[in-house]
Amino acid sequence: MDLYDIAVIGAGPCGSVLSMLLAKQGYKIAVIDKRNLDCLPPTRSKACGGLLSPDAQRVLASLELNLPNNVLVDPQLFSVVTIDLETGLQRHYQRFYLNMDREKFDRYLVSLIPDNVVRLFSTMVKDISSDSSGYQIFTDDNKSLKTKIIIGCDGAGSIVRKKMFNDLKMNVKNYYAIQHVYEYSKYNSNYYAIFDKNLTDYSGWAFPKNGTFSIGMAFKQESEGNSFFDILIEKLEKKGMKLGKLIKKEGALLLRPCGIPKVYAKKDNTAFLAGEAAGYISPSSAEGFSFAFNSACALAEAFKKGGNISKNYCKLTLKLRIKLILKIIKARLMYNQYVRKIIMALKINAIR
Ligand SMILES: Cc1cc2nc3c(=O)[nH]c(=O)nc-3n(C[C@H](O)[C@H](O)[C@H](O)COP(=O)(O)OP(=O)(O)OC[C@H]3O[C@@H](n4cnc5c(N)ncnc54)[C@H](O)[C@@H]3O)c2cc1C
Repeated sequence: MDLYDIAVIGAGPCGSVLSMLLAKQGYKIAVIDKRNLDCLPPTRSKACGGLLSPDAQRVLASLELNLPNNVLVDPQLFSVVTIDLETGLQRHYQRFYLNMDREKFDRYLVSLIPDNVVRLFSTMVKDISSDSSGYQIFTDDNKSLKTKIIIGCDGAGSIVRKKMFNDLKMNVKNYYAIQHVYEYSKYNSNYYAIFDKNLTDYSGWAFPKNGTFSIGMAFKQESEGNSFFDILIEKLEKKGMKLGKLIKKEGALLLRPCGIPKVYAKKDNTAFLAGEAAGYISPSSAEGFSFAFNSACALAEAFKKGGNISKNYCKLTLKLRIKLILKIIKARLMYNQYVRKIIMALKINAIR
């Protein structure tokens, strides 16, 4: 059986960047992902807006990573139209996101993982057991591998979190994001942020991407999300949004931080979580790339420092966790209908 120093579960934005940084430190690493990230066409993909925020751009810049052109898609969006479906208020704000093809972005990041990292793609982790020598990881092809250290970068539904950190309750609320992709219509060239407290206490979005137009909204997991989504579409059409043919329906679990964020790191320095698996995602906008990258960088730095890696990771994620707390406060204000009404009515920061 193969024995590794570190097994990184998940090669999304967090796992790819972390594998890339840890590989430079001389560890024997395996990165495992259920997606076929080494061949085409993609068999599984993550429902995502694929918008790269200025914060995420800043981390990529600090890593001296530039984006190849083929990751970017039409159109690049400079403004967001905020619509409150309840009050009918609408305002334009300036934004600096990059519009990307999420699948291509992930594959670009995977391509940066050095060759000395073993890639096990199209491989789903089904179970994990531990003993005094480390962890045994069981995969869906009836194989297993052993590792001294396991790192969960396996997103919202993380199996590493369920198996290794079951005792540590997350301060998050579970939401389910529904996204429908339509054929592009020339009438829909804007990026919209949509609020409607009768449908959700979280956000909705709509934007053009590479000849398509996506509309999405995140609902509390226990609510009637599908029925509310149908009402959202009706309301948008009533407001004058003309939609092309429906091409695709997709969805994803979304963890929304709602309390003091935790650090998932075993005291014996053998198991860690990073990225969305640890609940590191913006509770106000669901922006997750910057948190995935920042936590990956913090964990790689914690390993580099050596000694008590868990303690290092705790220190190095302090800024990120404070930022999350500030965003929780921001979300409470932003999703408060009266506060939002005042901000929109006073045109604070609005360009139109
Ligand atoms: C609808 C939607 C829209 C979003 N839009 C944006 C946006 O526009 N901009 C933004 O910044 N953020 C956005 N986010 C958030 C963003 O997608 C996440 O925060 C980000 O992808 C987190 O990166 P990650 O690497 O931590 O996890 P993920 O990207 O979820 O990667 C996890 C990886 O682990 C793999 N995996 C999971 N379980 C297993 C297993 N058992 N075995 C093997 N592999 C496994 C998965 O295949 C995946 O590749 C959006 C989220 C949703 C749901």
